[in-house]
Amino acid sequence: MKALVYTDVKELTFQDMPDPILRDGENLVAIRSVGICGSDMHAYLGHDERRPAPLILGHEAAGDVIDGPMKGARVTINPLVTCQTCEECKSGRENLCGKRQIISMQPREGAFAQLVAVPTQNLVKVPDDVSFDHAALAEPLAVCWHAIRLGHQALDVNLATANTLVIGGGAIGLGSALSLTAKGAKKVKIAEPNPMRAEYLRENTDYQVYDPFKQGHGDLSQYDMVVDAVGFATSRKDACALAKPGGVIIHIGLGDSSDGLDIRRLTLQEIRFIGTYTYTAQDFIDTAQAIYDGRFGTLEWVQKRPLSDGANAFAEILNGSIATPKIILHP
Ligand SMILES: [Zn+2]
Ligand SMILES: [Zn+2]
Repeated sequence: MKALVYTDVKELTFQDMPDPILRDGENLVAIRSVGICGSDMHAYLGHDERRPAPLILGHEAAGDVIDGPMKGARVTINPLVTCQTCEECKSGRENLCGKRQIISMQPREGAFAQLVAVPTQNLVKVPDDVSFDHAALAEPLAVCWHAIRLGHQALDVNLATANTLVIGGGAIGLGSALSLTAKGAKKVKIAEPNPMRAEYLRENTDYQVYDPFKQGHGDLSQYDMVVDAVGFATSRKDACALAKPGGVIIHIGLGDSSDGLDIRRLTLQEIRFIGTYTYTAQDFIDTAQAIYDGRFGTLEWVQKRPLSDGANAFAEILNGSIATPKIILHP
């Protein structure tokens, strides 16, 4: 098969690779659409010690099952392979499984390839009238859906009247805004400092988008929920200042690891800070269904390219010349 292999820091090579060998209960999926994630970018820059080269990255994928128990099905892939037997898995919190493996992290090669091996429990069927490009968005949108579900649970006020802000207008930021809308929020703003990306969001979505660096965030203490889809010290600091007393901060971004939290304000104002990571198996299924039902809107905020052009796509994302929140590669 052909695959886009991460061969060294900032180096991706489109090359021949051996076909995956199926283990018991696994399916061979012919990948039709696979998205580029911020975490793929992180690995490409050599910043993820869990993903050393050489490795096939890519975990946001959909395709046709061509061999194995689900042969013939159109599927989207939940890339979290979990043990199904530990306390976390049994209580439906598979994302916290201590034995969790992720497609695109050893020992599992990723989906920037023509073929990938996937256990049956990780496949969700896709109806014929839903495109693989849309189905491949199930993974990043599930991250958002899960985060907003946790935020909604913790919120004391009605989401329909809640004032909400998403910091960051990339795929996870936009997906969080769309998840808020899908769950009934009416007041959703997005803070995005990249002018090209902000302009893209203004033209292609109904959200109010502003530049937090140039315009500032406006009044402090104004939001019932703040979603930090960036995760840097500055965005955490802003989130702490912008949340209302009794409000909720949802932290998804993995920008950096320390600083920014105003623990005193979080404590005295009972602001709930919730870290969230990936999704449960049920969140993934619910997200896929929400895509099929059109609850995330048209999902046309993607740019499509052949997998063979993947190295250029990474380079362009890195130099900031791409406004679209998501690039989908076609093997
Ligand atoms: Zn991802
Ligand atoms: Zn487990």
